[in-house]
Amino acid sequence: MSKQHLGHTARKRFGQNFLHDPYIIDQIVSAINPQKGQNVVEIGPGLGAITEPVCELIDKLTVVELDRDLAQRLRTHPFIASKLNIVEQDALKFDFSELFSEENPLRVFGNLPYNISTPLMFHLFSFAHKVQDMHFMLQKEVVNRLAASPGNKNYGRLSVMAQYHCQIMPVIHVPPGAFNPPPKVDSAVVRLIPHKVRPVAVKSEEVLNRVCAQAFNQRRKTIRNSLKESVSEAQLLSLDINPELRAENLSLAQFGQIADLAFSVQE
Ligand code: SAM
Repeated sequence: MSKQHLGHTARKRFGQNFLHDPYIIDQIVSAINPQKGQNVVEIGPGLGAITEPVCELIDKLTVVELDRDLAQRLRTHPFIASKLNIVEQDALKFDFSELFSEENPLRVFGNLPYNISTPLMFHLFSFAHKVQDMHFMLQKEVVNRLAASPGNKNYGRLSVMAQYHCQIMPVIHVPPGAFNPPPKVDSAVVRLIPHKVRPVAVKSEEVLNRVCAQAFNQRRKTIRNSLKESVSEAQLLSLDINPELRAENLSLAQFGQIADLAFSVQE
C-alpha cells in the first residue's frame, strides 16, 4: 500500500498510520459509545477516520492535532467542521485541564502516534482525576505493558503508574492491515477508566513515579541497589520487603509503601 491516503502523504515523524478498515472503525466507535452532551476530546484526528463517525453521534468534539495540514483539512471539512473545536498543538504539551468542565468529566480517545504513546500516557495520567475514561489504539506491546502484573516480563513503570491511576481493559486486537500505511506491529484498543478511589494511597505521586523509575531503570539489580538513593536496606526490611527482590517482583502496594517511606526521609 502507498503512503498516500486520501490525498495526504503519511508523515512518519508524526506517527501517521491511518485507519481504513470500516469494521474496526465501527468497533472502536461502539467501544467509545459517545453520547450527546458529553465532553469528548480526540487526540490525533488525522484524516477523520474515527472523528467522522463520532461526529454523527455528538454535536461537539474537541480534536488535538499537531500536523498543520491535517488541522487545516479538518477546518474545511464539508460535513463535520462546524462540530469541531480544533486545537492545533502538540498533545504532549497540551494542558488538558483547559477542557475540564464542572458538569462533565472529560472523555478522551485516539489512535495515538506510536512514537510518542508512552510519554503521552504519562502526560494524560496527570489529568486522570478529571477524566471519565480513555480509549486508545496502541501498539499491542504497550497494551500488554499497561496491563502486566508483577513477575511478567512486560511489567514496568508504565504498568505500575497506569494501574495506580486507572483500571485497564483491553478491548480489541487490530492487525496491521487495518491501517494505511500498515505499521510493523500488531495493535490493540484499550479502555482506561481512572479510579475514583486509588487502589493505593500515597503521600506523593511524584515520589511514587521517581521510585518506580529508579527501580525499573536498573531492573536486573536487586532493589537494595537500585533504590539505595531513596531507601536503605534496613528501611526495606522494616516494611517486610525483601531487599533481594527485583523491581519486577514488587506489587503496586509495595511500591506505594516504599514511596511513602522515601517521601518521609526526604521531608
Ligand atoms: N485518527 C487518525 C486515524 O485513526 O486514521 C490518525 C491516527 S495517526 C496514528 C496519529 C495522528 O496523531 C496523526 O493525525 C498525527 O498527525 C497526530 N499526531 C502526531 N503527533 C502528535 C502530537 N504530538 N500531538 C497531536 N497529534 C499528533
